[in-house]
Amino acid sequence: MKKSAWHLLPLSGGWFSIDGGTFFGIVPKKIWRNCIPADAENLIRIPCRVLLARRGDDVVLVDTGYGGKERPKRLRGYALEEGNPIFASLAQAGVRPEDVTHVVMTHLHFDHAGGAALADEKGALRPAFPNALCWASKIEWNDALDPEPALRGAYPQENLLPLAEAKVLRSFEDGEEILPGLTACVTGGHTRGHAVFRLDAESGPAYAVGELAPTAWHTKQLWSTACDADQMTGRRVKPKILARAFGEGAPIFPAHDPRGAAFRLTDRQKDDFLAEILF
Ligand SMILES: [Zn+2]
Repeated sequence: MKKSAWHLLPLSGGWFSIDGGTFFGIVPKKIWRNCIPADAENLIRIPCRVLLARRGDDVVLVDTGYGGKERPKRLRGYALEEGNPIFASLAQAGVRPEDVTHVVMTHLHFDHAGGAALADEKGALRPAFPNALCWASKIEWNDALDPEPALRGAYPQENLLPLAEAKVLRSFEDGEEILPGLTACVTGGHTRGHAVFRLDAESGPAYAVGELAPTAWHTKQLWSTACDADQMTGRRVKPKILARAFGEGAPIFPAHDPRGAAFRLTDRQKDDFLAEILF
């Protein structure tokens, strides 16, 4: 039986500060400073976007933001918000942590997966969503839980081990339908196991693209963050995914656009796309 469509609600997983050059990669500052102005330290302020997808008993979070247990060093370094932003956003939406049934992650960096685990009053780590299965691509789980030395800093284990210990890890392969109408596409690029998701939403198809296009500015082929582990893969895959979304007129939910939670592609020039913020 065909399931009904997903109801989508974008949420904030918290804002943070990052070096503008890191965020815009090879794009010269004289161009990107017209997108997001930097402060005297060259920092820009960007959100961690989370997508809440609901349908009947299924309550899905796509990414979690950074959560509420970061150590003081990272709290200060990234100027993270106090408290637990994803819990605050869910409370506003009338959703309790125990209502969440699936956490589906584009990749496992701290600003996407940090909210999936929390530290209780005694400092003990545990899953933040006690009834949720936590999904990422098989490649991503392997790289994150047993990182090679060059990747260790990218995958703080306190975000991930509580999920492994609670036996709530689940992995998907490229093209797998995680739930009816929620399909994963493993893109690589930003991380080896980075994935995007296509959802059959009430308004039609929709895409959550994580860092494949972290903002609507990053819909041009060469615009990617400097922390993409494999730039060439990103450059190859991004136009293919965006071309599909463009053909479908689908809303796209990026990870970090400060202007809005969703954009739509309005034009294509070879492998570059133009976009407008929807909301
Ligand atoms: Zn990110």
